[in-house]
Amino acid sequence: MALAPFFDRARQSASQVMRHFDAQAFERRLSEVVVTIAFDATGEESIEGQCALDMAARLVARLYPRVAIVPLSGTGELSGQLADLMRSINPEIEIFAEGDARHGVALVVGTTAFNADTLIYIGSDRWVASVSTTAPRGSGNSNNPLGAGAAACIGTANVFRAVFADCVDRPELDQDARLSLLNFETGSRCANADMPRAVDMGLVQLVGAGAIGNAFVWAMARAPNLTGTLHVIDHEPIEMTNLQRYVLACIKHDKASKVELVASTLAQTGIVVHPFRCTWAGYVQGIGHHRFERVAVALDTARDRIQVQSSLPHRIYNAWTQTGDLGVSRHAFDGNHACLACLYLPAGKRRSEDEIIAEELRLIGKANIERTRAMLYHGEPVGEAFVREIAATAEADVDSLLAFASLPLRAFRQRAICGNAILKAHDGNGSDIQVPMAFQSALAGVMLAAEVVASSPGVRATKPGTRTVVDLMRRVPSYVTSEVLKGIPGQARCICEDAVWQDIYHGKFTMA
Ligand SMILES: [Zn+2]
Repeated sequence: MALAPFFDRARQSASQVMRHFDAQAFERRLSEVVVTIAFDATGEESIEGQCALDMAARLVARLYPRVAIVPLSGTGELSGQLADLMRSINPEIEIFAEGDARHGVALVVGTTAFNADTLIYIGSDRWVASVSTTAPRGSGNSNNPLGAGAAACIGTANVFRAVFADCVDRPELDQDARLSLLNFETGSRCANADMPRAVDMGLVQLVGAGAIGNAFVWAMARAPNLTGTLHVIDHEPIEMTNLQRYVLACIKHDKASKVELVASTLAQTGIVVHPFRCTWAGYVQGIGHHRFERVAVALDTARDRIQVQSSLPHRIYNAWTQTGDLGVSRHAFDGNHACLACLYLPAGKRRSEDEIIAEELRLIGKANIERTRAMLYHGEPVGEAFVREIAATAEADVDSLLAFASLPLRAFRQRAICGNAILKAHDGNGSDIQVPMAFQSALAGVMLAAEVVASSPGVRATKPGTRTVVDLMRRVPSYVTSEVLKGIPGQARCICEDAVWQDIYHGKFTMA
């Protein structure tokens, strides 16, 4: 079977959203099913239809080894482009033409009905994404890619729930879902508008060019009315495992710099990109001032997010994926509403680095935590004996771990845990490390882009509530957006409830 080179990571990600995960059954199902992407002339010719097909192809190719691309009318010229795109992500992917395969699950763009065991029609009208199992949705011809991008993510989530209906808790599909990325409401409450002819988003910092950052940039690159400056901050290169959910990344980008991929993607747009290959802390230090107007946060950890909030930007837009949901949140620092740190304060006792690493390496007991602490402190190579011990307790492949024996513990942990060598033996079960599905990270990133565009001057009249939450492992619910106030019960006091911090914030952003 033509599984992608980064398939281990895809399997790990699936294991976290399926119950009683069985790796063999999972692969067997993938070897049987053909996922079809079908489109008619209206889908192929409309700008939003092209965006939806592009995103759908990028998402489908990262998991499914057998696909069909079926033009229902028109020239079908897009078929070749979509096939090339999918092969650039998984060179081994099997691509069938019309008639070569039975259509099990089909994602359909356009206004033409199709015939398959399971049909998922996706479409969009500017800011509004539309997904249905009953009738074609049609795609608008605006130059707003946000509704189309979101529709492709929600549609691909429906494909996953349909293909693995026996193994997910809520396999029901979206019969008729609409989500507005302008006011972040659903159904009849969806707001919509034309994109103004020129939208200046000003200077925005994008912190994190990972899975969410990739989808953010995918959307920005397809919004020609947009101008502004983007400082992209990420210190890491792309690893092969990242391809499981980085929508911009193809096989050829393995080992490339994440921020350079962003810069090259936006090169022909009205957005001026400055790549910063460093962490947020390094960026703040290097830039020499602490006045940030609009910061888009696409980071992985609570600690990193609290660090961004601690530098007191005027406005923060935050996107996340976690077990159970994904979303976007909007923050100032003053007023009654939660700041970003409020959402990420630890509810219980914060665990230390040595406790976390010891647990990840399956080193149980107080003596092992002390030993881990000492190894972190001394920073010497972990050595062969340690590697053999870890491989035995974690039931991991000793040969793949021995390659890292000359590294100190922190680096060893990064290669062994984050590089997947240990989790491989466990198929991801029981791990703390969350690996979202590609469609989850992609929707979070498209929503983050929408929030940054919508909050630019002259675009949206009314700001939505603090937080928008979507769980793509079930139907889109009626309400996705709500307010969150400061002082969440049961949590530690936040910096935004402290008068000294408030004074600093007001000193920066209030005109005298
Ligand atoms: Zn707060």
